[in-house]
Amino acid sequence: MIFNGKGGEKDRLVNPCAGIDEFDAEYSLRPKNLSEYIGQDKAKENLSVFIEAAKARGEELDHVLLYGSPGLGKTTLAMIIANELGVNIRVTSGPAVEKPGDLAAILTNLQNGDVLFIDEIHRLSRQVEEILYPAMEDYALDIIIGKGPSAQSIRIDLPRFTLVGATTRAGQLTNPLRDRFGVIQRLELYDRRHLCEIIMRSSVILAIPTMKDGAEEIACRSRGTPRIANRLLKRVRDFAEVLGDGKITKELANIALSRLEIDKLGLDSLDRRYLEIMIKGFGGGPAGLDTLSSALGEEAVTLEDVCEPFLMQLGFVAKTPRGRTATALAYKHLGITPAGQLTIDA
Ligand code: ADP
Repeated sequence: MIFNGKGGEKDRLVNPCAGIDEFDAEYSLRPKNLSEYIGQDKAKENLSVFIEAAKARGEELDHVLLYGSPGLGKTTLAMIIANELGVNIRVTSGPAVEKPGDLAAILTNLQNGDVLFIDEIHRLSRQVEEILYPAMEDYALDIIIGKGPSAQSIRIDLPRFTLVGATTRAGQLTNPLRDRFGVIQRLELYDRRHLCEIIMRSSVILAIPTMKDGAEEIACRSRGTPRIANRLLKRVRDFAEVLGDGKITKELANIALSRLEIDKLGLDSLDRRYLEIMIKGFGGGPAGLDTLSSALGEEAVTLEDVCEPFLMQLGFVAKTPRGRTATALAYKHLGITPAGQLTIDA
């Protein structure tokens, strides 16, 4: 889970990172086993084979690396893996494990077969990461006792565990760490049909009367991300209860999402400001990330992790060696005519 606490970004409805107060609320919506987990068919099929095979052999599952954008279901999948294996899960994250001793304490407290989930694993420090190498490979912990010439290295055996690592940035993982994962699985953005199923499932759990066309309206504005879909569902419910009879219909979802300034494609005001500044301020680009970040008053990492992947997926923004550029599709979406192109009114 990436908890988000950066300035105004934390209030964005379409921010795919979890807010601190969302962790408990999300728990009730998390699917508990693979059959409840919607979409990601390739990942699910592969994992179910590996889990079955490990169970049949009576061995622990090989270490698993899950990567993909925030909110796509990495934490949920890690919990499902533990559940399907019938073992306990211990959850931590890269930034939370500050010292090698912290990780050593976690590892020595595991039971045989347990799953250790490390979210944002790319943020582990080098020293902590080095503890993981023998732990992953030989289920052992190498400890140095004493200092100078009298220092001695002793090896402690660890329980046989499965590490599930999650990252939004597979490219930032060091090679030695990546090579120690036997299973590497990428999670994709969800299509509209699967998001719709997720919204209908959450509606049942939260007892929200949702019509199929209402769910479809929310799904197409959820940026391919279940976390955003669930969050929009809850906000639309507020409008349905106050403006209507509590039922989420297409019309009501449309009114609510327009009031929340989320357009037909799921772009919010920050995405539109990003495109407008690029087009009106920088002639459509190329513009550097830092330049855009100071012009918008938003952190570069927010633009890079949250706005740009979605705008690039829509084909609105392209990354070039000289910076970001807005494409013809972005001009069209904002209703702006590219400079040098004549509009002929009939
Ligand atoms: P990540 O760890 O990738 O940031 P999470 O696993 O925390 O994402 O998922 C965010 C929320 O989205 C969860 O509360 C869960 O309810 C929902 N979710 C994610 N993937 C699915 C799925 N495949 N089916 C149903 N709900 C999902």
